Amino acid sequence: MANIVAIVGRPNVGKSTLFNRLIERKQAIMDDEAGVTRDRHYGLSEWTGKHFTVVDTGGYVVGSEDIFEGAIRDQVKIALDEASVILFMVDTKTGMTDLDKDFARILRSTNKPVLVVANKTDNSELQMMYHEFYGLGIEDVFPVSANNGSGTGELLDKVVELL
Ligand code: GDP
Ligand code: MG
Repeated sequence: MANIVAIVGRPNVGKSTLFNRLIERKQAIMDDEAGVTRDRHYGLSEWTGKHFTVVDTGGYVVGSEDIFEGAIRDQVKIALDEASVILFMVDTKTGMTDLDKDFARILRSTNKPVLVVANKTDNSELQMMYHEFYGLGIEDVFPVSANNGSGTGELLDKVVELL
């Protein structure tokens, strides 16, 4: 498959919400069931005439640090193997976490384009907060709200530029 955009990030940052918004069909499963590792979800999307496949790599549930680390490896492996562009999602409301830094460390070592998606930047107050994610050491950071759609146009403009 060509033109694959993979969404990675720790649980609960909003990967499935963004996936659903990008594909504009309810395909991803919003999952709170503990202990379940779900299949990846693929959906077709289009922006300014360019078509691409979005992968929601999520569904990994926190059980222990070890499971967390396994989830990181699995998601990053998927992203590295398949993706044309990697969307690394973080959560502006929560702020930067150690797990975000772990993801970033691995993603910085790939030669694929990685965009940091600072999700849950729902309002102007949160627009003041997302800048801390430049500290992850990845050049492009896009504040978005997967809930209300703000910022997703700018993000997609960059995504299709990279395809
Ligand atoms: P995932 O585990 O990364 O797939 O995250 P989900 O898409 O399941 O979202 C986790 C929680 O964050 C849900 O309660 C969503 O409604 C919420 N969420 C997702 N996007 C946003 C957003 O842009 N703003 C806010 N405030 N909440 C969001
Ligand atoms: Mg999910």
